[in-house]
Amino acid sequence: MTTTENTARMQRPVARVITAHRQTEGGGFVVRRPFPTAGVDQLDPFLLLDEMGPVDYGPGEAIGAPDHPHRGFETVTYVLDGAMEHRDSTGAVGVIRPGAVQWMTAGSGVVHSEMPPENVRRAGGRSHGFQLWVNLRAEDKMIPPRYQGFEADQFTRVDLPAGGKLRVLAGEVAGARGPVETTIPVTYAHVSLVAGDTVEWDVARGETALVYVFEGSAEVNGSDAVEGQLVVLDRSTGGVDLATGGSAEVLLLAGQPLNEPIARYGPFVMNTREEIMQAFDDYQAGKLGTIPAPGSGIDRG
Ligand code: MN
Repeated sequence: MTTTENTARMQRPVARVITAHRQTEGGGFVVRRPFPTAGVDQLDPFLLLDEMGPVDYGPGEAIGAPDHPHRGFETVTYVLDGAMEHRDSTGAVGVIRPGAVQWMTAGSGVVHSEMPPENVRRAGGRSHGFQLWVNLRAEDKMIPPRYQGFEADQFTRVDLPAGGKLRVLAGEVAGARGPVETTIPVTYAHVSLVAGDTVEWDVARGETALVYVFEGSAEVNGSDAVEGQLVVLDRSTGGVDLATGGSAEVLLLAGQPLNEPIARYGPFVMNTREEIMQAFDDYQAGKLGTIPAPGSGIDRG
């Protein structure tokens, strides 16, 4: 599973290292965004990666993203600190707590809100998490919306020999499989790496493979990356080897490219401009629904 020996494993070349920029989103919170960025519209099948925080909110300061629609892709929220309350037009209500993931397939369309819960708005505190957008195949863009919620203890966790930790949310890393049922094959893992630990990650041939360092510094197939940098691996064959001289917190992402045309505008990601216009028309006509009043929802954790 892990080794400190130098093996003859094939390593994918590093294609590029992207330094994330900062951007304001939702109700005005600042995110660190590796992509999309200048010259990188998407990293097929991934459309966006946002790191929310870490930020320390005072009482009354925490903000989120009030009611907005999505169609044609999936939003994946992973919370490390603080909490996010989700409400959507299917009636789902859930609080995403530290270590938990919400994998939302917007499909044909939902309206949702992503807000700090009332106790966090009142008391403030540290907020830190990620949102990933995963594209859907043309044939799946209008599938019914689906919501999968996972608590921290549901993820496959591997203790690395020198004290690091690997948590697999989806797909397989170093022999450990995550519980999320993804619509297209996707790997998503969080590694807390310390000196002396290595992770050997085998990525299926032709898949996009990304390593985002959000704390400390890591060596990715021999290239150094520091906090706020995304390493994009070449889409060839071979694996990804991770190590650190100090400590590092990293996300691993892999997925099969869809190689389909993309038309995106704000919260909608389709294949053609006509489909985007249709999404706006449907949203304005109320066809994506509205969020039921608080208290009437189905608690799906
Ligand atoms: Mn959203």
